[in-house]
Amino acid sequence: MSEGAKVIERRDQIHEGKAKIIYATSDPQKLIQYFKDDATAFNGKKKGTIENKGEVNQAISAHIFKLIEKDGVATHYVDTLSDREMLIKKVEIIPVEVVVRNVIAGSLAKRMGREEGEVLPETLVEYYYKDDDLNDPMINTNHVRVFGMATDDEMAFIELEALKINKWLVSFFDKMGIQLVDYKLEFGRSPEGILLADEISPDGCRLWDKQTGEKMDKDRFRRDLGRLEEVYEEMRARVLATT
Ligand code: C5P
Repeated sequence: MSEGAKVIERRDQIHEGKAKIIYATSDPQKLIQYFKDDATAFNGKKKGTIENKGEVNQAISAHIFKLIEKDGVATHYVDTLSDREMLIKKVEIIPVEVVVRNVIAGSLAKRMGREEGEVLPETLVEYYYKDDDLNDPMINTNHVRVFGMATDDEMAFIELEALKINKWLVSFFDKMGIQLVDYKLEFGRSPEGILLADEISPDGCRLWDKQTGEKMDKDRFRRDLGRLEEVYEEMRARVLATT
């Protein structure tokens, strides 16, 4: 913990997701985001664990949040309390998953009947309704407004912020020889405005090695490609060595 910061105590669990647990703390404005080793795919239909994934994802996310915040993107990150515990600002999560794509892959390849690997002529931002029971259906900004998930002004900010984050992340991953194919972002409302929330890690990104084309992300788990732990560790090493 940063020097001079008051001691924060972990309190009751308030939410358990597929890969993380959220705890209340002694500070009503802050929460703890605990990173688990559990891995799921296809909306929880496939389950497993990736040893040390929680630590790796905490370290990668913390590193990225700290750097991107300095470059003008407001995030929920406050501090790293332990290898798996991130202290975060309490936000009200907007139930819209923001998927940003630079290269055709995954569900976009399927939906559009295209091969994976084709670079898109421009960055594509998509929205999905964050609801596991419904399998996170794709939606547009009209659904977001009509169903009261967020206002048009909030979505205009989120789209611009996603594009700004994308520019930063593409350049950051490029420095370590990684092509940033696509990824998912979540945003939350706070008294300070809308903050980038959740995590940025190999769980929610497609990361392809520029030289070998090797997949360096959760597709190794989804597609049974093996070398899960090694690849997550390799990404931790590359991310932490990059500024
Ligand atoms: O499955 P799809 O191709 O739509 O995923 C696009 C990107 O968003 C991938 O990098 C995937 O890891 C991420 N994603 C996610 N969580 C979801 C849906 C997508 O992290 N619920």
